[in-house]
Amino acid sequence: MTDDIQRLGGQVLLNTKVTGLEQDLETGRITKVIAGDQSWEPAEVISSLELRATVGITSPNAPKDVRDAAQGLRYRDFITVALVLDGKDLFPDNWIYIHEPDVEVGRIQNFRSWSPWMVPDESKACIGMEYFVFSGDELWESKDDDLVALGARELEQLGLAKASQVDFGFAVRVPKAYPMYDRDYAERVARIREWLETIPNLQQVGRNGLHRYNNSDHSMLTAMRAVENITTGTNHDLWAVNAESVCTTRSTSKTSTRTSRRPPPSRWRSRSPGRRRPPRADAGHPQAPVRRRRVVRGGGARVRRVRGSTSRRSATSRGRGRARRPSPSSRSSPSRPGPRPAIC
Ligand SMILES: Cc1cc2nc3c(=O)[nH]c(=O)nc-3n(C[C@H](O)[C@H](O)[C@H](O)COP(=O)(O)OP(=O)(O)OC[C@H]3O[C@@H](n4cnc5c(N)ncnc54)[C@H](O)[C@@H]3O)c2cc1C
Repeated sequence: MTDDIQRLGGQVLLNTKVTGLEQDLETGRITKVIAGDQSWEPAEVISSLELRATVGITSPNAPKDVRDAAQGLRYRDFITVALVLDGKDLFPDNWIYIHEPDVEVGRIQNFRSWSPWMVPDESKACIGMEYFVFSGDELWESKDDDLVALGARELEQLGLAKASQVDFGFAVRVPKAYPMYDRDYAERVARIREWLETIPNLQQVGRNGLHRYNNSDHSMLTAMRAVENITTGTNHDLWAVNAESVCTTRSTSKTSTRTSRRPPPSRWRSRSPGRRRPPRADAGHPQAPVRRRRVVRGGGARVRRVRGSTSRRSATSRGRGRARRPSPSSRSSPSRPGPRPAIC
């Protein structure tokens, strides 16, 4: 893609932080994009910056209530602790969900099941112990060595391997991995969206760009639709992509991206104050410890296994009494029918 862009006279700048969007108040258009000491005068802007950032770097400032709405958006952060072990893979699945309340790990990836090239040494296995955290909390601030030790310890606690099998490991922190669906997010997003509608040459796309639990397919689709809007004059509503993940009522129509860029449907707006529950510190994340359940009886790990490769594949439950871990959207729509997308 970079080659294509360059062949057509474009530039791809890596490691270049966008720090400002200047807006013409009369037309509403973005007239300047600033990245460090460089700037451009764009005809069109497609942005996958998190909504909070886009609102924060626009000048003149967005209206105060829009800035407040953006500041209130929350994210769940993520740590994966990759452990390299001597011996065979610990399980054949791509990943397993951990429902055991006595450990911190929420999910374990088996990297070779995604691709043999991820673990090219046949004599080793490599897994990813996944921790769903908040930036700045105890786990986030832990030293990498301590996280590796924790991962190895929990692996043994779950009965999947001996800690001594772990050859080495390392930790990777991913800030803002998950846009949180807390009590107020829909109202906040709706207000920001109203404001975005007043900027004719700016389109937000992606996951945090729309504060939507989009997987990479959805994220790319929003970007492709945005390009079509520019190049072919369509009027795709990018907020309609993966819209079912935010619905709080049962939808009778199929999701379409061919709808116009209209204001948010009323079901996006938060429930009436009288029906609101108090917010939980960990609200909005599927791995919140408070929601963990033991779903498998018998020794060893209590896990739900997911075989399959893509995030759109539904999680399967096997065995008596197993429960499905709710996705963030299912929390607000417990009666929503059909299989849920796996969590990614
Ligand atoms: C743990 C985890 C597992 C996942 N597993 C899957 C999976 O199995 N399948 C799947 O389909 N999806 C999966 N996803 C979701 C997938 O990663 C996202 O849907 C996708 O990456 C979103 O793409 P995006 O372009 O919107 O955002 P990103 O991929 O986050 O890209 C945004 C980019 O913007 C850059 N940026 C931020 N601020 C600025 C700035 N001011 N200036 C310039 N650049 C900036 C960031 O550095 C980043 O590179 C997973 C996500 C997580 C967190």
